[in-house]
Amino acid sequence: MEPKFITVHDTANTNRGADAEAHAAYLKGDSAANAPVSWHFTVDNKKIVQHLPTTESGYHAGDGNGPGNRSSIGVEICENVDGDRAKAEANAAKLIARLKSETGSQVVQHNHWTGKNCPRVIRSRPNGWKDFLKKVESFMGETLTPIMGTPVATIDQAREWLKKKAPDWGLMADLCYSIAPKYGVRADVALAQAVKETGAFRFQGIVKAWQNNFCGLGATGVAATGQELLRGADPNLVSFEQGIHGAIFFDRATGVEAHLQHLYAYATDRPLPLGVVLLDPRFALVKRGAAPYAEHLGAKENPAGTGWAWPGVDYGHSIVRDYLADLVNTKIPEPISDAEKAMQRLLDEEVIFSKHDLKSNVTWEEHCFTLCRLLDRLAKC
Ligand SMILES: [Zn+2]
Repeated sequence: MEPKFITVHDTANTNRGADAEAHAAYLKGDSAANAPVSWHFTVDNKKIVQHLPTTESGYHAGDGNGPGNRSSIGVEICENVDGDRAKAEANAAKLIARLKSETGSQVVQHNHWTGKNCPRVIRSRPNGWKDFLKKVESFMGETLTPIMGTPVATIDQAREWLKKKAPDWGLMADLCYSIAPKYGVRADVALAQAVKETGAFRFQGIVKAWQNNFCGLGATGVAATGQELLRGADPNLVSFEQGIHGAIFFDRATGVEAHLQHLYAYATDRPLPLGVVLLDPRFALVKRGAAPYAEHLGAKENPAGTGWAWPGVDYGHSIVRDYLADLVNTKIPEPISDAEKAMQRLLDEEVIFSKHDLKSNVTWEEHCFTLCRLLDRLAKC
């Protein structure tokens, strides 16, 4: 199984002693096998017990071979009266935060799959589920990806990454890395998002390459009328045209900067840096500072329920997992030494016939043959 969800349950067992260990014992017995029932983790106030690897399907969601059982990690939270329920929920939130950051999974209630009233304790409290998700997020702080700050990937990595992803668009790395510091936005996060939004600058969606719009700004799915408000953005550099999806920017640098401004709007509530020209026609519409982390750019996973993408399920996680991780891990090829270049030239010119360890010794025999080949070559000149 490749987990896509984490399903939260309550054990619905308030018996004294019905803790994580007791449920582990139950899962090993015949009644669990006969039910059948299985899940991945049980959490009480003292312990987290794992019953299944997260790569193996359990049978806990009540949807047979549906996505609940086949693609979700099951977490049961204990209700035993002799336990401490608040502590058990906090432990579960911590576990779920870790699972979420490891797998990029979405957290759902058992109720999501079958309508069952589970997790019943959490569901019975006003705002119970919302508060629980907030608790999960609070434990994710250190594993989230801040949008503001110094990029983790270097510009050389960015250039190298684009060579693979979009060979004709290498200069986007230079544009991104030269403009981003003005805003304090991480150039690597912005570039990862641009590559996602544009399909590696192939522009096969509704926004086209000539628009210099690298993040789908203003592309709502409805073509523009040409009467769209610019909301303070410079009309010499930004426009909308009838029948065209999304904003049009004067040149690539303008488009990159507008993208950075839009990210800045989400990542911080600070005013725009002094002296910059507003290029983002939607800057004023953003709930400022609502998404300081890339993972929160999708409204669905944003604790404030808002975000860049709507509903944006997995949107921010995908930027980090499918693009940024690759960028950050891009290897810069070792520079080729002069000696390696020299050997390659001799190979190309057929003065020697195979590659050798540059530090190995040459016998007089080899040396003589090589020199003779050179003499022959000279004689022909
Ligand atoms: Zn359940």
